[in-house]
Amino acid sequence: MAQVELPPLPYDYGALEPYIDRTTMEIHHDRHHATYVNNLNAALEKHPELANTSPEHLLRDLNHLPDEIRTAVRNHGGGTVNHTQFWDNMAPDGSGQPKGGLLKEIERIWRSFDAFQEAFTQAATSLFGSGWTWLVRQSDGRLTITQTANQDSPLSLGQVPLLGLDVWEHAYYLKFQNKRPEYIQAWWHVVNWEDVDHRLEQAIQ
Ligand code: MN
Repeated sequence: MAQVELPPLPYDYGALEPYIDRTTMEIHHDRHHATYVNNLNAALEKHPELANTSPEHLLRDLNHLPDEIRTAVRNHGGGTVNHTQFWDNMAPDGSGQPKGGLLKEIERIWRSFDAFQEAFTQAATSLFGSGWTWLVRQSDGRLTITQTANQDSPLSLGQVPLLGLDVWEHAYYLKFQNKRPEYIQAWWHVVNWEDVDHRLEQAIQ
């Protein structure tokens, strides 16, 4: 029995057009994300004692996992959870800018929303190889922009990921080829700031 299920996209495959194209969304969700989920389940099959533990919990507790599945959970559990968040971090038409507490915190740290966007864009553009760029809440409450390699999750570092950008080539190559900066500029149009705001509220509680 599959323990972890692939969540459906929260909108239509073509809903993020023209910024993220339908075919990329289909392949990214139905094949890439699905493969991470399948591989995670295959690893967990050998460990029924973990059957009721969420992938998020497994990632927070990587060091306590059995040696033989730690790498699989890190890679495929990370791929599972990161992509689920990625879909929820986006919405058709996006919502422009963060509001309320999140906006205040961003302005306190980066001076302005524009400066934050620039810093995040710079981090995503300069990330070498495959990985993710994040806005995270550190365990001491600070918000920072970070990068993770491969499918590593901020959860494994004791952080709460608020906003994640997938900069693996599979996220953009069909439409943008090697032009990662153009993909990043397009992605800003579909960021779901309500979702990001909600994640910060949950983290603070
Ligand atoms: Mn991806």
